[in-house]
Amino acid sequence: MGLDSRVEDMKEELLLELNEFLRMPSVSAREDGSGAFRGCAEWVRSKLEEAGAEARLMETDGHPVVYAEIGSGSRTLLSYGHYDVQPPEPLELWESDPFEPEVRDGSLFARGVADDKGDVLARIQALRLYIEEHGPLPFKLKFFIEGEEEIGSPNLAPFVRENGPLLAADACLWEGSMKDEAGRPMIFCGTKGLAYVELRARGASHDLHSMYGGIAPNPAWRLIQALRTIKDENGEITLDGLDALADEPSEKDLEAISRIPFDDGALRASWGVQALDRGLTGEEALREMLLRPTANIAGIQSGYTGPGSKTIVPSEAFVKMDFRLVSGQSPGPVVELIRAHLRRRGFEDVEVVDLHGVEAAKTPVDSPVVQTALETWRELGREDAVVFPTIGGSGPTSLFATELGIPTIMTGNVANAESRIHSPNESIRLEDYFEAVSYFASFFGRFAS
Ligand SMILES: [Zn+2]
Repeated sequence: MGLDSRVEDMKEELLLELNEFLRMPSVSAREDGSGAFRGCAEWVRSKLEEAGAEARLMETDGHPVVYAEIGSGSRTLLSYGHYDVQPPEPLELWESDPFEPEVRDGSLFARGVADDKGDVLARIQALRLYIEEHGPLPFKLKFFIEGEEEIGSPNLAPFVRENGPLLAADACLWEGSMKDEAGRPMIFCGTKGLAYVELRARGASHDLHSMYGGIAPNPAWRLIQALRTIKDENGEITLDGLDALADEPSEKDLEAISRIPFDDGALRASWGVQALDRGLTGEEALREMLLRPTANIAGIQSGYTGPGSKTIVPSEAFVKMDFRLVSGQSPGPVVELIRAHLRRRGFEDVEVVDLHGVEAAKTPVDSPVVQTALETWRELGREDAVVFPTIGGSGPTSLFATELGIPTIMTGNVANAESRIHSPNESIRLEDYFEAVSYFASFFGRFAS
């Protein structure tokens, strides 16, 4: 195909441009006011303009968003990415300068190359190549490239809510995705929701001598007893009403899961554990991970935990819990369920603090955009792409997928399972990068029809 050989001929040029992007230290966690950060946003804007798009910076209370539009037609595709990167530290663990890209053994090493600069630029280069090869884009393509993803996108929700009509689209290509350990492209169709809470139990106004242990209320025991009502001795979640909120997984979801290669033995080996929770194995474990909520204890603290012994009755106890939620289970109502559940069992003294919530996002696995993603991989000779109904984690995808109702998927696969995202020696394989450029260009061709 013309486009593939074009990418082949232009490899050097495409790589030089990527290196230019990677040399800009756009670390959102520490904006130093030097203008370097804004310079990176301006660079992205200029690349979009060179590709023929109408591009601008849009201000937020933090770093600006780069927004662009190009093409016309009855359909609209939105592309989400970010130009900011994680801090590179600890520097001594890098084999080369994090902001001086270096190729070793066919891989390109630099901070942000896998997350998310490679992905962002591959899409822009694909757009340019598509137009050079085929002429004007027969659909509208919108780019939304933010500068605060690595600090938790603090201004994303207000921006999306204020600019709903601007961002409206028939489908959205989210950032991320990667190739799995065996090199298969992965397509993700959703993210889990999240309710993050703290449960607090209180005893006396101060720690007491444990001579009072028989008569003083002990908040650590109190908290343990409250927790025991949330999961039973078999490890099953017993929170009243949680299951009833969940949307049933579709037949297609279950079918997609049965096709996902999943090696629980390799997972157990890499974790150094004999068995998964509740002895789950194979497809049953995968269904649990992808389709069921969790009630995870992230941290628990009470009383004296230092060396040796100290004889006290603690004055307070708290636990941090994250509930990963499936579609239908909104974080607000789930927190209310937790409160009602504890109240019903006489634990009204245990305070439930709502720390933060994220909605689940779900795009049906048989949506047209998922089919387009699969067909594009096939066109590139990749019959092995794997569709995941959802990914175990959570993210702001829900602002687009759930609040704006845009079918949203992750595909493209610049990164791989060894990319060390957020770690020293972040990398991508060059062949994956060039394949991604071809992939996005072919995707654009298919999206129009
Ligand atoms: Zn990212």
